[in-house]
Amino acid sequence: MGYQHLRADGSLAGLPVGKVVCVGRNYAAHAAELGNEVPEEPILFIKPATSLVPFQDEIHLPGGRGACHFETEVAVLVGHELEAATAAQVRPAIAGIGIGLDLTLRDIQNRLKEKGHPWERAKAFDGACPLSPFSRPDAVADLAAMDLRLEVNGEVRQQGNSGQMLFPVVELIAHISHWFRLVPGDVVLTGTPAGVGPLAPGDRLRAEIEGVCAWETRVAA
Ligand code: ZN
Repeated sequence: MGYQHLRADGSLAGLPVGKVVCVGRNYAAHAAELGNEVPEEPILFIKPATSLVPFQDEIHLPGGRGACHFETEVAVLVGHELEAATAAQVRPAIAGIGIGLDLTLRDIQNRLKEKGHPWERAKAFDGACPLSPFSRPDAVADLAAMDLRLEVNGEVRQQGNSGQMLFPVVELIAHISHWFRLVPGDVVLTGTPAGVGPLAPGDRLRAEIEGVCAWETRVAA
């Protein structure tokens, strides 16, 4: 059951699977709910290709590792190499817009944070990054005004607008490319709005970028 980047119509996106560069605390309200300060520059971390799984497949929670939280995020598929890019260079390099879950073992992450250790055990495990198929970028009228929502068992749990991002999509990707070269098939996860919480077996999830895409999945019982 290997992961491959798909188009919204189910066809292959024709891009290799690469790394996922993620940003922490990109919405002030989410930083506040975890008791964190709002950062002065993006907090970056990377999920490896081995963490990717198709969003539509059942989510399998790691056993015996404490709470596994959902973090719903706008996912950007990179189509061209970006190295120390400007905002103007980023726009044409965006190959698709989708939804990613930055699954996080919150108890473990809290322990790692206390010790000042890296977060990978909490965020880079196999299956830690369910990714939806990608809509074409022209399906998005304005990258700075996307409404993102997650429903769990029919109840809205997360809601945000990309206009609330501390580091907006294009500027964020340009910034990332000054630290990590982005290559075709890489993905950028742009941070989660407030409302994160633990997943439970059997939960049904529906994630939506209004007017762009909506994808459903469930947590294995
Ligand atoms: Zn996240």
